[in-house]
Amino acid sequence: MIIAEIKTHLLEHHLGTAFESASARFTTRTHLLVEVTCEDGTTGWGECLGPAMLNRAMVEAYAPLFIGQSALDTERLWAEAYNRFRDQGQRGIAITGLSGIDVALWDIKGKRFGTSVATLLGGRVRETVEAYATGGFRTGGSDRPAALAAECAGYAAAGFRAMKVKIGFDVAEDLAAIAAIREAIGPGIRLMIDANHGYDAGEAAALGNAAARFDIGWFEEPVIPEDLASYARLRSAQPIPVAGGETWHARWAMKQALDAGAVDILQPDLCGVGGYTEMRRVADLATLYGVRLVPHVWGTGVQIAASLQWLAAQLPDPVRPEPRAPLLEFDQTDMPFRTAILSTPIGHEGGIVAIPDAPGLGIEVDRDALARFAPAG
Ligand code: CA
Repeated sequence: MIIAEIKTHLLEHHLGTAFESASARFTTRTHLLVEVTCEDGTTGWGECLGPAMLNRAMVEAYAPLFIGQSALDTERLWAEAYNRFRDQGQRGIAITGLSGIDVALWDIKGKRFGTSVATLLGGRVRETVEAYATGGFRTGGSDRPAALAAECAGYAAAGFRAMKVKIGFDVAEDLAAIAAIREAIGPGIRLMIDANHGYDAGEAAALGNAAARFDIGWFEEPVIPEDLASYARLRSAQPIPVAGGETWHARWAMKQALDAGAVDILQPDLCGVGGYTEMRRVADLATLYGVRLVPHVWGTGVQIAASLQWLAAQLPDPVRPEPRAPLLEFDQTDMPFRTAILSTPIGHEGGIVAIPDAPGLGIEVDRDALARFAPAG
């Protein structure tokens, strides 16, 4: 399985209605896939979290280190690639770029041995996983509480038993939205909130204390990810479990956050934290620090499929007769790449997603769709 070529595919979709988190306004969705081809024609697919153009440059910078090497040597190749850019790398694009390549190598490894990545990771402990709907972004010009209440009622009607909405704009406005959502979905559905680091520490504490009565599952990215001390203080300054991790890349950043006592729930992104190779180490760290692991997922069908393989193998922690099952983050916004680029799209039935068991990531990428969503020019 000698690597012959590494290609990137940029996908772009212009949104019909722009939407906002507390950290970004989305008018387009742009994502980067990585395709690794071996000399025998075997291909593997990966994806990089974050700015597609920067990830593309990073993947191109890494490519010469991988060409001519065995795709099965994932540990050595990861270490050598990381070391190549260590002095100016360590986090951010250096790791998200490497993540896309690593995921593609595991896809190849699975195809080589005729088994799913989850089996390679240690075995499939589940064939389905519960999904939570991610949505609830802010769109301009509407009554936000009413709009979000209607959106979330729609997720409940579609069968989701858990969902997450965006806050971090204004404490009073956010609270009104949370109240309207809880009223609309009733008491039996899990509701999580994500501030996308839009608050300062005081606002986050105020929001957490006031929102707790609406039975909130977790409070994600309350403050900027660099401010680990405020993260840690928020765990005692308000009662909702604190979650974060999508912007902390590779094991050293994760250890720093865990040492600071920043979170109750760690959310590494498979396609951002360093791929499967690094995700395994981060999962071990989470166990050692007594922190729950709920992966972050934000991308195309490739990233969802890759995350499903991880979730199939994620061990219950602790092991017990009725263990707590992990959750798949399932973006429900306007996002055609979720389904269009896969020959067999991944969907849910009553909030439950079946995990593919074909070799590798268990998917086939539709090349016509890649061409259809390639940016003009
Ligand atoms: Ca988030």
